[in-house]
Amino acid sequence: MVNSEEIIQWIDFNQKWFIEIADKIWEFAEIRFEEVKSAKLQISVLEEEGFEISKGLADMPTAFIGAYGEEGPIVAILGEYDALSGLSQKAGKLEKESIEKDGHGHGCGHNLLGVGSLAAAIAVKRYLEANKVPGIVRYYGCPGEEGGSGKTYMVREGLFEDVHIALCWHPFSTNFLFNISSLANIQAYFRFTGRSAHAAGAPHQGRSALDAVELMNVGTNYLREHIITQARLHYAVTNTGGNAPNVVQANAEVLYLIRAPEMPQAQEIYERVIKIAKGAALMTETEVEVVFDKASSNLIPNNVIGNVLYERLQEVGVPEYTEKELEWGRKLQETFGEGEPEEVTNFKNFEKELGTDIIDKMRKCVMFDTIFPNTLPEFTLPGSTDVGDVSWVVPTSQIGTASMVIGTPGHSWQEVTQSAMSIGHKGMILAAKVLALVALDFIEKPELIFEAKEELEKRLGSKEYESPIAPEIKPNVPEWVFDSMD
Ligand SMILES: [Zn+2]
Repeated sequence: MVNSEEIIQWIDFNQKWFIEIADKIWEFAEIRFEEVKSAKLQISVLEEEGFEISKGLADMPTAFIGAYGEEGPIVAILGEYDALSGLSQKAGKLEKESIEKDGHGHGCGHNLLGVGSLAAAIAVKRYLEANKVPGIVRYYGCPGEEGGSGKTYMVREGLFEDVHIALCWHPFSTNFLFNISSLANIQAYFRFTGRSAHAAGAPHQGRSALDAVELMNVGTNYLREHIITQARLHYAVTNTGGNAPNVVQANAEVLYLIRAPEMPQAQEIYERVIKIAKGAALMTETEVEVVFDKASSNLIPNNVIGNVLYERLQEVGVPEYTEKELEWGRKLQETFGEGEPEEVTNFKNFEKELGTDIIDKMRKCVMFDTIFPNTLPEFTLPGSTDVGDVSWVVPTSQIGTASMVIGTPGHSWQEVTQSAMSIGHKGMILAAKVLALVALDFIEKPELIFEAKEELEKRLGSKEYESPIAPEIKPNVPEWVFDSMD
């Protein structure tokens, strides 16, 4: 039986070390597939700890695995460390103040996510070593979660084939068992090419790629009425063809993100969106090229792992906050704008299951100093994650821990500012403890692995995992990154 005190104390004792690493990755603020310094730093820490490193995995220079142990059950702990572009922001501020114009920032707290998982993996290693327990712990350094589907490529490469269970976590504003599903998604660029001309002098000679983008968007907006209600369609015009209205735009591009509860549903909508793009090209006498960008599958929850995670989360318990932290958080909340906090809108539907007190607490508190009861029914979160692909091939479960004040908008400067503060660090340390304990629970009780696997098989039934990314597609990694990891 795992001596949980030993693990908890070890992580507490070493927390300064892990916080420093998380703060460094926060400072590096590297975006998808460019996480060179963040990957190198974590690799050096793992190497020093005696982990065996494999790097440059699945055509991604910043993907790596650190493994410890020779035999026994294999537990994968997943880490992410990519930032978001344009979100540069100073730490601990109550107003928007960037460090660098157009710089990047950790607006999804992945600096915490990566290091929380890293700390858990190291704690597990120390325990296995000290107690001579057979078992293998692997830290999966997964790049490009934000718009890159790094894990989907790692799954396609077969890097999870021998893994028994996978654990992950994500910074949130509440503490809960994240045993819910997410939407499958597909992202693709639609590049239109026309012919430029003087827009006044010779308009008849021009063929506008921008017109094609606009007509395509009109078409997909009509499509919305005829797709399943849980599906989502978003787009961003990534190239308008320049800013001169007196030139017929010869090039234009729009990026589409299509989401649905299951991959075949997303694929069906994607095919229809392609037809609309072709229609827009036909109407405008332009050419369209469809460039697939990424895809990830929906999450398959696992109650066997989830229940153990929940038990350990309760055992470790939530951190305490100082008056100073709460006071600061209260002031930050004033910057969030009117209306109910996002958490309340997300979970209000489950008031009956969660209890009125919890919903009320979310309306009033600064830090969520409690844990959601384990009565949240399974539902599909209207978002996506590439952890989904891992969950199809390995029993997987995750937790969320309070790493920011209630009401913090996702992907915002307010989230960046907190991801390098004590508020964020506390959520990270809590997650590290829980993940380490649960990894050891599964290493020491192989019957749990068997049950978790059985549950996954039951949930999948006759469905088989197929990578949503075609074999010829490679991750969208900039050329320079390939030379900088040596
Ligand atoms: Zn995230």
